[in-house]
Amino acid sequence: MTETAKFGAVNVDVDGLHLYYQIHGLTPKSNDSLPSLWETGVVRFLELFRQLGIRATFFVVTEDLSVPKNRAIALRALREGHELASHSHTHPYDLVQKPRAEIQRELQQSKEALQELGITSNQIGFRAPGYNTSPQLMELLAESGFHYDSSSFPCPPYILAKAAFLLAYRLQNRPSRSIVADWRSAFGNPNPHQIRTESGKTLWEFPITVLPKVRFPVIGTSLITLGKTGFRVIRPLLAQIPFVNLEFHAIDMTDHKTDGIDAALKRQPDQRVPLAEKERIFRNCLEFLLDGWENRTLGECVP
Ligand SMILES: [Zn+2]
Repeated sequence: MTETAKFGAVNVDVDGLHLYYQIHGLTPKSNDSLPSLWETGVVRFLELFRQLGIRATFFVVTEDLSVPKNRAIALRALREGHELASHSHTHPYDLVQKPRAEIQRELQQSKEALQELGITSNQIGFRAPGYNTSPQLMELLAESGFHYDSSSFPCPPYILAKAAFLLAYRLQNRPSRSIVADWRSAFGNPNPHQIRTESGKTLWEFPITVLPKVRFPVIGTSLITLGKTGFRVIRPLLAQIPFVNLEFHAIDMTDHKTDGIDAALKRQPDQRVPLAEKERIFRNCLEFLLDGWENRTLGECVP
């Protein structure tokens, strides 16, 4: 990657609705008993990207691919030029705290599920559940031949907010399954860089974009909170960043009313804004991105 190149990567984490019940310490639900975010959020993102000519990366919780409808949508994404990458096999928030063999199994199963869709083994990228990483995870990713990692979210405001809500939920006696594995990650390098693992292997890391200096997160949820007016304020700061890695979640393109999403999930800021408004906000931001950066999938950003 050269100093002057400006690449804009767009990605969507396809977290099932059941994971939001885990985050918010609500009574657990099985994913198949809930509205599918593949048939709503993912399909809508595919449509928006098609209209704008964007090729994106979808980070898939690969156990979802055993559902024929999800698999068909994943194959459609591939046909339309998008990249599918691993968001682990079952999305355990505490993946990095699990025994080595269990982490290896998650990575292996996830790779195999993507290979079954025709993706080459050494072309598979990774994003960790809840952005929680560890030197051991990086080692295992490199060992298993992953193409790159994009788990780093070097955002102190995010980690502080997360720690605050985890504490609040614990005090309310409904602990979240989400964790803060490593505070230092919030202060990591915000630019693409090569990680050297403890055994000397290397792996490209593409951090999720934060604004220079203030490290405000540039992700779907914060774009929704800012609205179109707020986005105008951050545009000059965003323009200074040579490599933009813009992260959305499938839930960002849903509407709790029309998609039958539980009102209890209105704890999510994205669930309080109507779908049409969110789509306008995202379209506006993505058009700005296409204007100033060359759109690539994350896999294509690996030098
Ligand atoms: Zn996730």
